[in-house]
Amino acid sequence: MPFMVAANRRNRPDDGGSRIGAAVEALLERWSELWGVPQLTRFVRVELSQRLKRAAGRCFPDRGAITLNERFLQEHPEELGVTLCHEAAHVAAWLLHGRSIQPHGPEWQRLMTLAGFPADRTCAIVAPEPSRESSRRPVFVHRCPECGYTHRDHSQKIRWACPLCARRGRRVPLEVTGVVPTDVQ
Ligand SMILES: [Zn+2]
Ligand SMILES: [Zn+2]
Repeated sequence: MPFMVAANRRNRPDDGGSRIGAAVEALLERWSELWGVPQLTRFVRVELSQRLKRAAGRCFPDRGAITLNERFLQEHPEELGVTLCHEAAHVAAWLLHGRSIQPHGPEWQRLMTLAGFPADRTCAIVAPEPSRESSRRPVFVHRCPECGYTHRDHSQKIRWACPLCARRGRRVPLEVTGVVPTDVQ
């Protein structure tokens, strides 16, 4: 059983965590076969976390420990595949080649390519939501015209490209769709 839920969610079979859990199992099994790493499914432990803020996922390959950003994946369920694959490929590359390889080197890239994902990405970064302390300042809503990704920020990020589209190898500048005065929300 490679999937663990956060302790306080263990008895809530209908929540999003469980749906993510079933998908995680299936994906890991598929890649384990595809990559020729039969021990992957037993070695990997996947945990959902609400504490991850800036990354969609992270992992410790030598322990097989993968953490996924629960809030992000509930808002963007379509990102589960690429996010999990990114981390699972780190673990599989470690199982296949040991610690001598570079994290995003050719061995990792080969596994991403086999799974059908772009291999030119570093660990996915999700921009943080503005903090509560600064809620008196205006918020700029940045929106991707391609995939609908939105990011709220206290400053206007003119040069920002969509981080989700970037993971598919496309640079799509974000459009600023509005200024939200946060003291009324
Ligand atoms: Zn990475
Ligand atoms: Zn996008």
